[in-house]
Amino acid sequence: MLKVFYPHFLINSVVELTPERLRTLGIEYLLLDVDCTLKRYSNQEPEPDVKAWLKSLKDENFKLCLLSNGVGKRIGQFAESVQLPFIAKACKPFTSGCRRAFSEHGFIPEKTALVGDQIFADVMAGRLSGITTFCVTPLSPEEEHWFTRIKRPFEKIVLSSFRRKFPDGVWKER
Ligand SMILES: [Mg+2]
Repeated sequence: MLKVFYPHFLINSVVELTPERLRTLGIEYLLLDVDCTLKRYSNQEPEPDVKAWLKSLKDENFKLCLLSNGVGKRIGQFAESVQLPFIAKACKPFTSGCRRAFSEHGFIPEKTALVGDQIFADVMAGRLSGITTFCVTPLSPEEEHWFTRIKRPFEKIVLSSFRRKFPDGVWKER
């Protein structure tokens, strides 16, 4: 399998990314996918544990920015509710959104990780941008658009190949 499809880390939820774990990995900047990563697709609010997690990272001075393929108005409203900067219409799996984070928000690629739930959008965008990638289990895949749902069976093939090779969820060639 091409490594562009493999996340560096497979995790169940963003809340596993404690400040300690991120610091150990040298990560200071996080690009966060929104739908199915921080919130259920149909919700306007993050999950309560995610809300607390966001606060804990802000309190510890991590730099966060939302990075979504969604349209500006919807993502902008969510960004306002969690008080974070955002990049909408990010065109993941292309790298334009990540590059904007580097140029407009001062994110340093070597210290940046992208966290998202889709292999063929988030993981690829992060990999192609040369940054660390965390792939989370989607919060509400059943609520997604059909064009996301049709990609899920192919993601399952990638993820089972990843799990066979790296049972502890950590990409070893990192
Ligand atoms: Mg998503």
